[in-house]
Amino acid sequence: MADSNGQSRNELFTSDGLHVIEQGYKIWTQAVNGYLKSENLLSSKTGQVLVQVLGSGGPELTDGRASSSYLVWVNHKARLLVDFGSGAALNYEKSGALPDDLDAVLFSHFHVDHTNDFSALVKGLWFTNYDKKLQVFGPSKNQEFPGIKEFITALFNHDSGAYAYLGDNADPEQSSQFKIVPIEIANSSSNISSYAIGDDVMVKAVSVLHGTVPALAWRLEIKGYAITFSGDTSNENRALDLLAQGSDLLIAHNAARENDPSTVARYLHMMPSEIGRIAAAAKVRRLVLSHRMNRTLGHEVETTAAIRKNYQGVLYLIVTDRADDSD
Ligand SMILES: [Zn+2]
Ligand SMILES: [Zn+2]
Repeated sequence: MADSNGQSRNELFTSDGLHVIEQGYKIWTQAVNGYLKSENLLSSKTGQVLVQVLGSGGPELTDGRASSSYLVWVNHKARLLVDFGSGAALNYEKSGALPDDLDAVLFSHFHVDHTNDFSALVKGLWFTNYDKKLQVFGPSKNQEFPGIKEFITALFNHDSGAYAYLGDNADPEQSSQFKIVPIEIANSSSNISSYAIGDDVMVKAVSVLHGTVPALAWRLEIKGYAITFSGDTSNENRALDLLAQGSDLLIAHNAARENDPSTVARYLHMMPSEIGRIAAAAKVRRLVLSHRMNRTLGHEVETTAAIRKNYQGVLYLIVTDRADDSD
């Protein structure tokens, strides 16, 4: 973070040990005292809990961003991935994460822009010393979309998988260097599912509305901090409100602009006013807008105004992919 004199404003990120870091991204920031622009939020990994954005885009090929993915660091170890869309594998490499530290992948849903690089991750782990059980969480299936078990089967089944040659990693009967362990979250918008990852991380999920796609929002509770990932959702049933309560950080997907002319966009995604309503109702301390698309890029002023009708906390909009910049 930098103030108007270009001086570091580390207090926004380091005072409580919770950091938002954006390797490869610039951020246009509106804090309580006005607009701020950040050149690099990545210089420090001193916190206990850090969220690194590996991909802040959607499925478009013209947004200059990797698709949706977040890397969660705990005590300098990159322990969890939330989604792993196109381009995430490269940014994972650039993050400096040690693959051996990875415990779990949390999928929000099985749209391409949230999942596409997962097979690259699995194959890449072959070339490391990774020998653990990789827990891979995801929603359960419906008539149109696979659940996590069907997704893993479609990719890695010995007989029918697209990447059958990696099948041993998904077959508990076979010996292999590491195992993929799918964990299915039952579809419920009212009951929160909770799982422990190690002895210091709790992951919680609730089903959210995203058209006809089985979809989850995730909440991570680590060392006294709560981080909520909206995933893709219209939040029409307000399931996200429940999960986001008291979060130190809410990462909300900004894939529809206010009164978006696209009915599909409004059907699948939250408008900024809804994001602001949730952030205020849940008493979120910091709000980050991610999963930005061409229909929301360039609309930062109206987006901010719509959010500010309800939410006065700290707001960050991820505006560009720094990988495109010379620095
Ligand atoms: Zn998406
Ligand atoms: Zn989606």
